Amino acid sequence: MESCIFCKIVNKELDAKIVFEDDTCIAFEDISPQAPVHILLIPKKHIESIDRIEKEDLKIVTHLIGKISEIARKRGIKSYRVVSNVGEESGQSVFHLHFHILGGRRMNWPPG
Ligand code: 5GP
Ligand code: ZN
Repeated sequence: MESCIFCKIVNKELDAKIVFEDDTCIAFEDISPQAPVHILLIPKKHIESIDRIEKEDLKIVTHLIGKISEIARKRGIKSYRVVSNVGEESGQSVFHLHFHILGGRRMNWPPG
């Protein structure tokens, strides 16, 4: 997995603006923000996507979900969108599970 850019961020081989970190996960600013607040929350463990979550990973994923409101509150957004693209057709470009936390502007629905 040494070629995965998010693993490189986890291992501090690649710089990122980290907004939260603990033993299980790390959250950092998206390099190409699509909203005034655009944070990526990822597990430290390399999991390809939601589609590849194994039973033993569920604790990790629950932990991540539990951190979202904390991160959003810290950034002062009360209304926000959480997105996880699964597979190329949906827009996934980095194949290490991540939740986009987007906020600070009005969002459209349905998404494009
Ligand atoms: P996806 O397209 O897989 O849903 O989301 C990947 C996200 O990672 C994109 O929003 C993209 O801007 C972001 N991204 C790609 N490379 C880097 C990087 O090196 N650093 C940071 N901070 N974000 C990145
Ligand atoms: Zn990875």
